[in-house]
Amino acid sequence: MNKTPLNNGTNQIPIPATGKKNTKLQKEKLSYFGVEDFQVFDEASFHQAFAIDLENARESVIIHSPFISQRGVERYRESIASLREREVQLCAYIQEPDDWIQRNQNILPIESSSRLEQLECSLADLQLLGAHVNLRRRAHEKLAVIDDSILWEGSLNILSHRNTSERMTRWVSPNQVTSAVVKHKLDECSHCWSSGGCKLLTDEQLHAKLLEISSELARKRKYLGLSQREIGASIGTDQSLISRFEHGSCAINSKTVIHIASRLGYELVLVPTLLRHSVDEMVARQLRARRTNR
Ligand SMILES: [Zn+2]
Repeated sequence: MNKTPLNNGTNQIPIPATGKKNTKLQKEKLSYFGVEDFQVFDEASFHQAFAIDLENARESVIIHSPFISQRGVERYRESIASLREREVQLCAYIQEPDDWIQRNQNILPIESSSRLEQLECSLADLQLLGAHVNLRRRAHEKLAVIDDSILWEGSLNILSHRNTSERMTRWVSPNQVTSAVVKHKLDECSHCWSSGGCKLLTDEQLHAKLLEISSELARKRKYLGLSQREIGASIGTDQSLISRFEHGSCAINSKTVIHIASRLGYELVLVPTLLRHSVDEMVARQLRARRTNR
């Protein structure tokens, strides 16, 4: 049986799945993937490649594995512990069994109670390793997202796989990540929302964000050869307000900001924090393409 990845897209890079582990070599090979690149793995090659992705994760990892087992957690124990040491967030989505709420009611058959008890142990184990554990009814997708840029998808339960034959595709693609995060609601981790996800911005951070918006709009205004007075007049306000805005003043209402942006050919949109890097990359790519075509 061929143990190398099954089939590749562009920039095919065979990664040996068996034999002596050569982490350095594999890291180099994985890092050569280009944007929009994909590679297909089988059950033999997947785990090693996925462990390398975990080792290289910088900010966040999401694992959507409907099933979880002690053995499955054990397989990634070191990698997950290392994520916590490096302050890389891990959000896990696991399927909630239909009889989950009855687990403490002494009404279930012994096999069901035992199955749920094992599940509880595995979930507790994962939590102790620092993961955010979310239960989802009837979720059956097998997915993982690394740092907003890599998407794994296919048939393999990452946290419970044992010996079945499977197929997993690894995409290096902000587009694929964005589409998976939106479609499968991977940005709804309840732990992120109740802790870090809802942290208030400091005044400095708030000011920096506003300055980012106003600087870009000022740059575009100058590029179009428009004065502050002209922009002000076109949206029914005066030059001094535009000037204050361009210098990062917070004393400007959202309606005016939307008007200025719209007048300069921009639209203000909300982007989930998790997708910020992907969106930045997509915009940068579009701008590069536009410049090249000029
Ligand atoms: Zn989370």
